[in-house]
Amino acid sequence: MPAAKGVMNDENHTHVIVGAGLAGGKAAEALRQEGFGGRIVLIGEEGERPYERPPLSKDYLRGESPREKARVHPDGFYAENEIELRTGTTVERLELDRRAVALADGERIGYDRLLLATGAEPRRLAVPGSGLDGIHYLRELGDADAIAARLDRGGRVVLIGAGWIGAEVAASARQKGLEVTIVERDELPLERVLGSELGRIYADIHRDHGVELVGGAALDRFEGGAAVERVRLGDGRALESDFVVVGVGVEPRTRLAREAGIAVDNGIAVSERLETSVEGVFAVGDVANAYHPFYGRRLRVEHWANALNQPLVAARALVGKPASYERLPYFFSDQYDVGMEYSGYTTQWDEVVFRGDPEGGEFIAFWLNGGRVVAGMNVNVWEVTDAIQALIRSRQPVAAERLRDTDVPLEELITEGVS
Ligand code: FAD
Ligand code: NAP
Repeated sequence: MPAAKGVMNDENHTHVIVGAGLAGGKAAEALRQEGFGGRIVLIGEEGERPYERPPLSKDYLRGESPREKARVHPDGFYAENEIELRTGTTVERLELDRRAVALADGERIGYDRLLLATGAEPRRLAVPGSGLDGIHYLRELGDADAIAARLDRGGRVVLIGAGWIGAEVAASARQKGLEVTIVERDELPLERVLGSELGRIYADIHRDHGVELVGGAALDRFEGGAAVERVRLGDGRALESDFVVVGVGVEPRTRLAREAGIAVDNGIAVSERLETSVEGVFAVGDVANAYHPFYGRRLRVEHWANALNQPLVAARALVGKPASYERLPYFFSDQYDVGMEYSGYTTQWDEVVFRGDPEGGEFIAFWLNGGRVVAGMNVNVWEVTDAIQALIRSRQPVAAERLRDTDVPLEELITEGVS
């Protein structure tokens, strides 16, 4: 349906989206929902229509769910909504002065508004032996296919990094019956984000499932003939491996923005309306370091919910409507039979308070700073995210013993907090 005439909502206008991952795909959908009736061009380097990455370390990796289930939209969606999806197409350069993007083959596409959703890419190791066969990274469907084929052959895998990729691939590999070792620089898995209290719980979960955890370890080199055969640590220890999966974090894909002179600072710096330092150019998802009104600072969030929800706000901004992204950071993870959701953001806290029994596997952890809840994580307990987020937003002191007391409904604590 043609849109109402508006400055940036005109059917003669073109909005270009660079990056056809979850954030890019959602942005195209949201532009139509906002009534934009002009041309939408969605450009993606991968030869795939937009898909979600969470299954790539979980059910899809284990061969338990089909490829199509990972898709952001059903087949036909882009044609039906007159979204020009150009897969297998790389944007080489932004030409801001002529409001165009330049493709690798020399073609230029002009735009009225530009949205950058270029995501992030795995950090690559450079230790000796890094080029051996059998050393895998996990970001794209093809990576998952290659690792899945190795999992099907069984044997012994060493994971480098006990972050989200390491932890989730370890769980999937154990579920497939492989011998699994994780090498981590910190002492505990997921320690940087969750801290030592929760890191210990996740260490126990993995050990209970038969994973060997090597914490506080320095990776020295990979050894082998053509393919990797063992991982050598700084203290001389050797870990035999049939293959390796590396998950040592990602880097935001900022090259296009940086070369065009758009402000970059740990990702593309954007306002709460997700606009970059250049008017009319926006950024969302893993690549965006967005000013967050609740925290009064910029945050770059590398998780699914952010890539799902920021585009809805960016689409409003693109068509000239008031827009501000204010959702609290949220993510989820599934490892073995342990499902969790985490809300909030913090790098410092005084104490972690448990509601329920961590040993029993069903609990909520609250991170308290100055007596206030700054983050919360529910493990195998569901339908509590709204309450946890309300507690965080209230910014009111909460008594730790009442948080611990499962007889006190969380909703009651919010009321107390807000008063
Ligand atoms: P991306 O997914 O990185 O997509 C960006 C796209 O832009 C890519 O397809 C890229 O090829 C394309 N692109 C980049 N540059 C160009 C260019 N110049 N021209 C054209 N195209 C370009 N989060 C959770 O909260 N929970 C989970 O359980 C979870 N599991 C995950 C499992 C795995 C294996 C991985 C890798 C991530 C997981 N995440 C999870 C994180 C989540 O998937 C990311 O936050 C999300 O993918 C970010 O989406 P995005 O669209 O911003 O970026
Ligand atoms: P990550 O979660 O940032 O974790 C990287 C881990 O690797 C950190 O623990 C880091 O330790 C460690 N590390 C770094 N260099 C190392 C080295 N040389 N040797 C050993 N360990 C090293 O990144 P990731 O696991 O690679 O995941 C990639 C991206 O996918 C991230 O954006 C992540 O958020 C996303 N993802 C999310 C989920 C989810 O939300 N459930 C699931 C999968 C993937 P230090 O802390 O010491 O640096």
